[in-house]
Parts: sequence; C-alpha cells; structure tokens
Amino acid sequence: MLELKAIQTYYGKIQALKNVDIRISEGEIVTLIGANGAGKTTTLMSICGINPPASGTITFQGRKINNLNPEEIVALGISQAPEGRHIFPYLTVRENLDMGAFLRRDSDVVKQDMEMIFELFPILAERRNQEGATLSGGEQQMLAVSRALMSRPRLLLLDEPSLGLAPLVIRKIFAVLNKINKEQHTTIFLVEQNANIALKIADRGYVIENGAIIMEDQAEDLLASEKVKKAYLGI
Ligand code: ATP
Repeated sequence: MLELKAIQTYYGKIQALKNVDIRISEGEIVTLIGANGAGKTTTLMSICGINPPASGTITFQGRKINNLNPEEIVALGISQAPEGRHIFPYLTVRENLDMGAFLRRDSDVVKQDMEMIFELFPILAERRNQEGATLSGGEQQMLAVSRALMSRPRLLLLDEPSLGLAPLVIRKIFAVLNKINKEQHTTIFLVEQNANIALKIADRGYVIENGAIIMEDQAEDLLASEKVKKAYLGI
C-alpha cells in the first residue's frame, strides 16, 4: 500500500533520514520505533508532504506521492494524528470531529462515523459540546485520533499516541486502534517510543537509529530480539 524507497530528508543542512526503506501492506499495523531524535516524526512528515524527501520515492497504492502537497495526500486517504495532540483548542469536541471529515461529501455516513467514535470513546460523547482546550491530556489524545479517523483514512498515521498518558488511557486508545484495524480494515502506521506497547499491537516493525533503519522484522521477533530488549524495552 505504501512504499518508501531510499528516502533522504533534510532540515536545511541536517540530514534527518538516510536511505529509509519502509513497506506497508494493506490491512497491516506496522510500527516504527526509535529513541528521541531518531527520525520518527520526520518519516511521517515526509509521507504527508510537510517535509518532502530530497531524494527517493514514496508510492501510495502504486502512485508516486512525494511531489504532492499535504492536501492532495490527505485527499488520497492518508490521515495523521500528530504528536502532541494538535486539536483545535477553541472548537468543541464535535466541531473538531467535523473538521476531520472536512473533505467528505457523504454527510449521512459522517454522522454514523461520529456516533461510532462516541461509542468507542464514551467520554468524548459526554464532552461533545466542550472546547478542546478544556479536555484532559488523555481525552485530547482520544480526540486527535478520532479526528484523524473521521476522514475515513485508508492509511492512518499516528505519531506517539501513548506519549505522556496513563497506562489505562493508553490501553483504551490501543484497543480502539486494534478494533478499527480489524473491523474497518484501516491500515495503520504507528510511530512510537513506547516499543513494548507498539510491538504488541503491530504485525511488523522497523527500528530507526540516527535517521537510518537498522532492523526490520515481524513484531513478535523484534520483541524477542536481545538488541531490542536491551535498547528499547529496558530488559
Ligand atoms: P522524538 O521521539 O523525540 O519526537 P523523532 O524520532 O520523532 O524524535 P525527529 O523529530 O524526526 O525525531 O528528528 C530527527 C532529527 O531531525 C533530530 O536530530 C532533530 O533534531 C532534527 N530536526 C527535527 N525537526 C527539525 C527542524 N525543524 N529543524 C532542524 N532539525 C530538526
């Protein structure tokens, strides 16, 4: 579904991605794990056209996308829940969700999808008329993921959804991601520093260090790998 081939991405003269190759098949949950500053967010920024690669190719469903702008990429069915819960603080929960469905014309199905979100996250239903800024950190993260889901993406990109959240909230969000993947067949690319939880939900994973992919395997094999255990699982 998505293929990154020999991606090199820069911030000015700083090279943040070095020859990155990643493949994601339809229906998979694939994770990219790595330490602070390894290049995880940059990988997502390259895919969504915010920081396009200087060289290499990104293809989505057979079409080259690294010359498209972010709006065109969203319109193809790629949606991102960015790191740090960038919701609209002065819009209500419901308005934030409406913004996620901005490009859709099937308003009846949009309504159903909003009901589905409220079933998945009942706390958002309770807070539907409350401004985003007044939600707790965990609720804002639920809203950020839900807003991305409201575009009905074929490919959902998630940047560290577990960051700074209590274990119970993390479990809730990851259970929803699993359900969306299994029931709606949404393909998921999950960027995480929390390797343990990411590898438990994922089918396959990649490890990035200093801008380069250093390992790639089935998630269960990465979980069992001595190198991953030592460097990322603290075992
Ligand atoms: P974290 O887990 O801390 O979010 P990350 O793996 O997502 O880290 P990136 O944000 O992709 O890492 O950063 C990769 C490298 O690029 C880092 O060395 C970072 O300092 C650098 N970088 C990121 N954004 C910029 C920027 N706007 N200008 C200059 N350098 C940047």
